[in-house]
Amino acid sequence: MPELPEVETVMRGLAARLEGRVIARAALARGDLRRLIPPGFAEALTGARVTGFRRRGKYILMRLSVGQSVLIHLGMSGRMAIHSPIEPPPDPAKHEHLVMITAEGWRIGFIDPRRFGLLDLIPTANEDAHPLLRDMGPEPLDAAFDAKALSLALTGRRTPIKAALLDQRIVAGLGNIYVSEALFRAGISPRRLACTIPGARAARLIPEIKATLTEAIAAGGSSLRDYVQPDGELGYFQHAWKVYGREGEACERCPGPSACPGIQRMVQAGRSTFFCPRHQR
Ligand SMILES: [Zn+2]
Repeated sequence: MPELPEVETVMRGLAARLEGRVIARAALARGDLRRLIPPGFAEALTGARVTGFRRRGKYILMRLSVGQSVLIHLGMSGRMAIHSPIEPPPDPAKHEHLVMITAEGWRIGFIDPRRFGLLDLIPTANEDAHPLLRDMGPEPLDAAFDAKALSLALTGRRTPIKAALLDQRIVAGLGNIYVSEALFRAGISPRRLACTIPGARAARLIPEIKATLTEAIAAGGSSLRDYVQPDGELGYFQHAWKVYGREGEACERCPGPSACPGIQRMVQAGRSTFFCPRHQR
């Protein structure tokens, strides 16, 4: 499932190729994904110039010259593939729901086998009023998301910190993997009550959240050529996690394999959490 760094690299890949270009043709293969795609969607895109991109949480906003923004969510399995004008046109991908072709012949497909993704069209001037965006908390990489802001948001909350950080109203775009990683790096147990984080623990956690995301975005940028894989797929990349998916292994913080009880996995609110019980408290 794409998380914030993957969405950011998908967005950068799109921006590198589409900004300033005119969408000569847009075609939908179906009228709905997770939600209904608004009527007139393809018509609104056709002939519009792409003026810029923005990411909000795990959503991509593609701004058009016609005063509208395309809202894109990749859901569980969504991906975008891009092909240059000089490449032979690819065989139509299975589960390709949207195709956009620029005036120069760039071809962008939105593919989503499980259809938990989303496409919507919203006025650019009112992006943040969209029902899916309006209650969203601060962006984790914004300077405004600091220890003070996090402390304030967590005060009095008697849920585990893991659940609190997945709450998009507290901070936007954090998902299961990056929360596990940031808590590991900050030495905080995922079970610890959120109301005990304000103060020193928040001050420890904030830089680890930002570093975890920033490093993953940088890895995406360096491992892909302009954020695109050789097959044209945007944004996904291999990344080595410190705890995620490493159940039973010794963690890198403990002094040695004999000192570490081994990374454990537990299920919180239906999601896997990985942690080292020795130094995460
Ligand atoms: Zn350990």
